[in-house]
Amino acid sequence: MTQQAPSLDTSLAAAVAQSAADYARRNPASQAQYERALQVMPGGNTRSVLFYEPFPLAIRRGEDCRLWDADGHEYTDFLAEFTAGLYGHSNPVIRVAVQAALENGINLTGHNLLESELARLVCDRFPSIARLRFTNSGTEANLMAIAVAKAFTRRGKVLVFQGAYHGGVLTFAKGHSPVNVPHDFLIGRYNDIADAQALIQANAGELAAVLVEPMQGAGGCIPATPEFLAALREATQDTGALLIFDEVMTSRLGPQGRQGQLGITPDLTTLGKYIGGGMSFGAFGGRADVMALFDPRHPDALAHAGTFNNNVLTMSAGIAGLSQLYTAEAALALNALGDGMRERLNAVCREQGVALQFTGLGSLMNLQATARPIDHIGDTTDTDPRIKDLFFFHMLEAGLYVARRGFTVLSLPITPSHVDKYVSAFESFVQRHRTLLAPA
Ligand code: PLP
Repeated sequence: MTQQAPSLDTSLAAAVAQSAADYARRNPASQAQYERALQVMPGGNTRSVLFYEPFPLAIRRGEDCRLWDADGHEYTDFLAEFTAGLYGHSNPVIRVAVQAALENGINLTGHNLLESELARLVCDRFPSIARLRFTNSGTEANLMAIAVAKAFTRRGKVLVFQGAYHGGVLTFAKGHSPVNVPHDFLIGRYNDIADAQALIQANAGELAAVLVEPMQGAGGCIPATPEFLAALREATQDTGALLIFDEVMTSRLGPQGRQGQLGITPDLTTLGKYIGGGMSFGAFGGRADVMALFDPRHPDALAHAGTFNNNVLTMSAGIAGLSQLYTAEAALALNALGDGMRERLNAVCREQGVALQFTGLGSLMNLQATARPIDHIGDTTDTDPRIKDLFFFHMLEAGLYVARRGFTVLSLPITPSHVDKYVSAFESFVQRHRTLLAPA
């Protein structure tokens, strides 16, 4: 009797099961921590993106760009708090700033001496932002930007794009979501100029805003083409809708964000992540006439509340980070390091002839299990997620911390030698699993 070779599907399933079993064996303390969490949190989790099977790693501590898990394994951190950890885990400048804030008292219940200083730094950095207000998260920043756009235009509809992630209640990876806020959303196709123009024109009198990530981050590091963003700018100008750039992730891509690189001026911009120096942060801002709706000196001003909007830890850490660490030169250098890294990774894919690629811009990138060009999340939906599972387990084994979905982020403490380590771990991943990877 001849023995039949197992199908690719069976082999892939077996390889993932083996990797997961090895992972579980190596991480008993993380498993025990997860079991404790299960008793008090649904699925043991309070932040969906951090969950993965068979159980997530419990991280004990971090230092510069290193992390240690509960079982004592050390990792180079190539995730950096999904971009908020730009400064690393222990930057002395950030630590001094936080300590200084602690010494002056942490809940001052008043306008403080720091908030306008951070606002000034943000306005100087992003010329489209004439006035801004702070929030506690990027989600809140987008909620407030949509609210003010609706109030300013006196219109109700908002155009977003399939695959977009604008926060926990503004998520469009799979169309509408039951946890989303109930605005009247139109969902367009990312990078499809004709589709967006048609939607904007057809809803001209009712469209308050177009909300767009200049590169979809959670959607898989899919950059918008400059032409697409320019077309959105033009169509919104024609119809009186506001153009909102969600630069929560992309503002790090250049000294003036992605908008500065492209020379496109949105009406409003939303920010988050690293700008608070690693503390919880969000901000929305832009045209002075739009933001004036919040001016509390006017009797009919819009309200915008938030106990922690101007919290001194965020303000102080944010000021230190923008003024001393993430200078224009630092932004250019970090993103050049990322561009070079992505080119090397994609060269490996080409040379090895496997259907893999890294999409992204500058210091942000994402593994994709296909060689075809990706303009839109629909170009990735038929890829096999198990390839990313194998990649994830392989990288952890090699001491590199990345997102389960293949998202990879550079932070300031990352050096070219860390990048070399990542590239060689990726090469060994391709070699190890080459029979399971589709040819390019
Ligand atoms: N917008 C984008 C583009 C994001 O990537 C994120 C978070 O990942 C958000 C908004 C939401 O920010 P936060 O997690 O601070 O609410």
